[in-house]
Amino acid sequence: MGIIKKDIRALTKDQLREFFVNEGDKAFRGNQVYEWLWQKSAHSFDDMTNLSKSTRQMLENNFTINHIKVDTMQRSNDGTVKNAVRLHDGLVVESVLIPTESRTTACVSSQVGCSLDCRFCATARLKRMRNLNPDEIYDQVVAIDQESRLYHNRPLSNIVFMGMGEPLMNYNNVLKAIDKITSPEGLGMSPKRIVVSTSGVPKMIKKMADDSVKFKLAVSLHSAIDEVRDTIMPFNKTFPLKDLREALQYWYTKTKNRITYEYVVWKGINDRRIDVEALVRFCKFAPSKVNLIEYNPIDDGEFQQANPEAIDMYQRVLEANSITVTIRRSRGKDIDAACGQLANKK
Ligand code: SF4
Repeated sequence: MGIIKKDIRALTKDQLREFFVNEGDKAFRGNQVYEWLWQKSAHSFDDMTNLSKSTRQMLENNFTINHIKVDTMQRSNDGTVKNAVRLHDGLVVESVLIPTESRTTACVSSQVGCSLDCRFCATARLKRMRNLNPDEIYDQVVAIDQESRLYHNRPLSNIVFMGMGEPLMNYNNVLKAIDKITSPEGLGMSPKRIVVSTSGVPKMIKKMADDSVKFKLAVSLHSAIDEVRDTIMPFNKTFPLKDLREALQYWYTKTKNRITYEYVVWKGINDRRIDVEALVRFCKFAPSKVNLIEYNPIDDGEFQQANPEAIDMYQRVLEANSITVTIRRSRGKDIDAACGQLANKK
């Protein structure tokens, strides 16, 4: 029976240094390998050209590099790119590159499937199979950075955790991935350019505040009325708006970072005057802004984009109450890469 090799990227830099010392080599060799693994994103030991052949062979005998593999890549007419990413155990997640004039954003997944059950979301139809580990999250970002350089001649500028999964249900691994993304030994990106988007897990929002994280927070709110939110996001029955509101106030008090609410207006669901009035009241609890997001129907048509008049009403009422509002047009619709559409159709 062959030995089961360990994924070398599960080792810290210190552990790598120690490994080389135990092998009778210099600790410095660990730094070189670490750099290959993270800064240079090497897919194989043979790529590590400043190591001797025998060192590369020794690594090969002891470890694997469980790099993700971009299985299929689809490009939309508007420049959006969607990757179907195969993990080492054969499962697949999706990540998306979204270019605009001023920025290139990666939308990455944090779980295979999702722990939650939002009724408008394609991912919710896949049950949660497992959490992604930190390097599987990091690799998605690296793959999109490379595509951004290739197709748009510029590096990735922003990251949003809005792909498959609820990031706060995989908090530790998301945090480790962000550490690597922001570290000079990884991609060296500013945490201010990273948004973690949650459907609202109060306990974890407080934990993030206690951990003094530097990235931004967005909440998929979609309704500020419990009875409505209960029907579209059933986990709201467990984490009602009162608890969410309290957690968000805690977040703001500790971090002084304002909150973005992601909000879709659906026909016959949350397109009434009382819905926008409830949102206005909710926004007053902590400094915030609202992104009104265009909805992309996912096949059975139960949820439909509201009429333009309803969107106008939202915009007017929010602005009249001095709440910043942005209307976000969805991109990548022709390749099912838009918000709420990631579900591994293949
Ligand atoms: S919207 Fe987000 S949290 Fe809700 S089911 Fe979909 S992936 Fe999960």
